[in-house]
Amino acid sequence: MKTLKHKLIVFFIVALLILGSLTAVTLVITRQEQANNRLSEQSVEHLLLLDSVVTTLFEAESSQRAYAATGSGIFLVEHQVQRDRLARGIAELESVAKAHNETSLARDFVGLVRQRLAMMDELILTVEAQGSDAAIDQIALGTGKRLMDQIRNSASALLGFEHDQITARSMITERHLQQLLMMVPLASGVSIVLFIIAIVFTLAAMRRNQRLLDELDSTGRDIRVINELSSSLQSSESREDAAAILSHYLTRLFPAAAGGLYLMRSSRNHLELVATWGEPGDAMAVSMAPSDCWALRLGRTYQRSGDSDLRCHHLTLDDHSTLCVPLMAQGDIVGMIHIESSTLETLEKIKPLAEFTGTHIGAALAGISLRESLRQQNIRDPLTGLFNRRYLEETLDRELHRARRGNTRLSLIMLDIDHFKQFNDHHGHQAGDLLLKEFGNNLRAHVRGQDIACRYGGEEFMLVMPEASLENAVKRAETLRQSLVSLAVDYQGARLPSITASFGVAAYPQDGDDAETLQRLADRALYHAKASGRDQVAVVADL
Ligand code: GH3
Ligand code: MG
Ligand code: MG
Repeated sequence: MKTLKHKLIVFFIVALLILGSLTAVTLVITRQEQANNRLSEQSVEHLLLLDSVVTTLFEAESSQRAYAATGSGIFLVEHQVQRDRLARGIAELESVAKAHNETSLARDFVGLVRQRLAMMDELILTVEAQGSDAAIDQIALGTGKRLMDQIRNSASALLGFEHDQITARSMITERHLQQLLMMVPLASGVSIVLFIIAIVFTLAAMRRNQRLLDELDSTGRDIRVINELSSSLQSSESREDAAAILSHYLTRLFPAAAGGLYLMRSSRNHLELVATWGEPGDAMAVSMAPSDCWALRLGRTYQRSGDSDLRCHHLTLDDHSTLCVPLMAQGDIVGMIHIESSTLETLEKIKPLAEFTGTHIGAALAGISLRESLRQQNIRDPLTGLFNRRYLEETLDRELHRARRGNTRLSLIMLDIDHFKQFNDHHGHQAGDLLLKEFGNNLRAHVRGQDIACRYGGEEFMLVMPEASLENAVKRAETLRQSLVSLAVDYQGARLPSITASFGVAAYPQDGDDAETLQRLADRALYHAKASGRDQVAVVADL
């Protein structure tokens, strides 16, 4: 493309030079033709002058003869007038001849004319001195007639010369005309080619400008969508939220392609497919290891152009052109955008946008993880890792609402370690902390996925068991109570003595239908267990 442009520019310059030379040559020919024309005009003037001199000479001769024959003064006056005209004519003829370097022929002619004029003067003198008869005798000698014949011959030689001059000049004019006629198609051809090149250049420039404008327009639109995407991600609280948002925006950003979004699990050993868009030709792997993708292995975008390049293990089809863009945050892989298209051209086009989008998504996902971990810190007890009381209160309301709506049950177990103050006093606060931590782990090990175990405060704990009946909750409390016997905790190289705990159980719907009542009743049951000797489970019905 670049060399073609250079060639066109060189051609343009050469064509301009040719056109310039043609114009210069045309100007020179025109100048020459103007000079030629001027000379032709002068030749014509010369001819006319010659003719007028010859005619006047004949008139002067006949008026002189008339004077000689009659002696009448009228003819002498007429003769004088013609002589004056002749004198002017001769002077003019001499100056023209000098200017034209035609002196020899003209000089001969003028010399003969002057000779003839001298003879005329002589004859007039004869008339005046000896009368008409003597003058007629002088005429009869025929000298004047012979001189006139010589003058006529000299005039026709001069005329012939001027004729030849005019003929030669008209030939020059013809040659000039032919040269100019040749110039016209040549100059027109070059001009047309220049004009076409100028149009081609202009059209190409217009197309390029339009393309730039379109690109600018679509880039502006893409940046607006990315900004929207960023602010939506900022308001998202979890990966699930983020996945839904990303699926929507990736469809908008890459409508010409299909693809999927993978996010790294917190375990960091695999990524899972959380969103797809378009109609991927490849069956996308639902989960993959970071080592399955070349982009994640290399830490940069990996583009695969059909079956000639290495294929990522998370892909199955060989003939697809694909783009994998790693999503990074502070040097860590947080996910990957996979884009595929049947045409390599589409992928090439969207690659910069995909990388730009990837950078934004990476940063936004890092923000979400941070918010998620902050939220975890907000809802978790740092010592035991169990939920805290605030979370419990939020969740208990929600779970009760769900139980009411689903017409299911819910049970609460409240636990309190027995004589923990004493334990602290004997073994120290640090040992107490360690024991609380292990107590929390043991509690977690004994609950189902949907149960919510929390540290209620100090050495008190609460277990919310959605969909669990009172009987099941009592059984669970009993299991927990017995498990404490085998809870072995070592501290500073020595095994700490085992502890016991007391349990109070309350259940929805039979004991109450709001969180506050149920908590209060479970607490009362717990104190009933304490009062009844500790290390036991009590229910509301026991109160
Ligand atoms: P009871 O059987 O009646 O429940 O007796 P208790 O000693 O367990 O009850 P009490 O309410 O009198 O004392 C609770 C003790 O729990 C007081 C405090 O020293 C201890 N405790 C509360 N929170 C922590 C904690 O975070 N770490 C440690 N090491 N001890 C704690
Ligand atoms: Mg207590
Ligand atoms: Mg206690």
